[in-house]
Amino acid sequence: MNSIQHQGIGMTSARTRERLIDRLREEGIASRQVLEAIRNTPRHIFVDEALASRAYENTALPIGHNQTISQPYIVARMTELLLERGPQETVLEIGTGSGYQTAILSRLVKRVYSVERIAPLQQQARRRFQELGLRNIRLRHSDGGMGLPEYAPFDGILVTAAPEGIPRVLVEQLRPGGVMVLPVGSRQEQALVRVTRTEGGYGKEILEPVIFVPLLGGVR
Ligand code: SAH
Repeated sequence: MNSIQHQGIGMTSARTRERLIDRLREEGIASRQVLEAIRNTPRHIFVDEALASRAYENTALPIGHNQTISQPYIVARMTELLLERGPQETVLEIGTGSGYQTAILSRLVKRVYSVERIAPLQQQARRRFQELGLRNIRLRHSDGGMGLPEYAPFDGILVTAAPEGIPRVLVEQLRPGGVMVLPVGSRQEQALVRVTRTEGGYGKEILEPVIFVPLLGGVR
């Protein structure tokens, strides 16, 4: 891409990004911090060049390997739900995908750990973080169903692919009082759930219907 085209995208994206922020506000995203992180993070870097012109639409888009970059509303909503009870130092994300949600988190917490089972997606995400100068992210190519026991407990866990039930292994990697936000359900029917770890177990809030790719086992 030459510099003129590049500048073109830059200018368009500043304006269209602002429209996206307005739209997210209208849809009920109230956290200033989250809106600011979205304003400061170019989503077009996280999709294929052929889709860059659609990067600021409030929709999920394909990222290859049968996976999608989540809709901005969902990224904003999950981040808001995760951070609502106060600042968090360490967050584990399951399903790096494009890396967009990871990048948003990295602006809001001290350290983000993110796990992805598809190696090429993880490598692409790593290059994007370098390009943006985001240095507080640790990536791991592994099965997120196992969590990341060597770095547990986490203040927060965010899962961006849907398991059929709440994974106990992940709950156990939350510190007491820690929060996990995740989609739960089958391909046909899923809901966004917030789990709060307690001393003896966990509490759960069922929030709103969502559509995510399934959380699969194993690494590729
Ligand atoms: N947050 C991402 C969402 C990507 S879609 C984004 O906005 O781009 C969900 C991702 O979860 C996919 O990349 C998929 O490969 C990954 N995934 C699914 N099951 C997984 C598992 N068991 N372990 C790690 N990653 C998994």
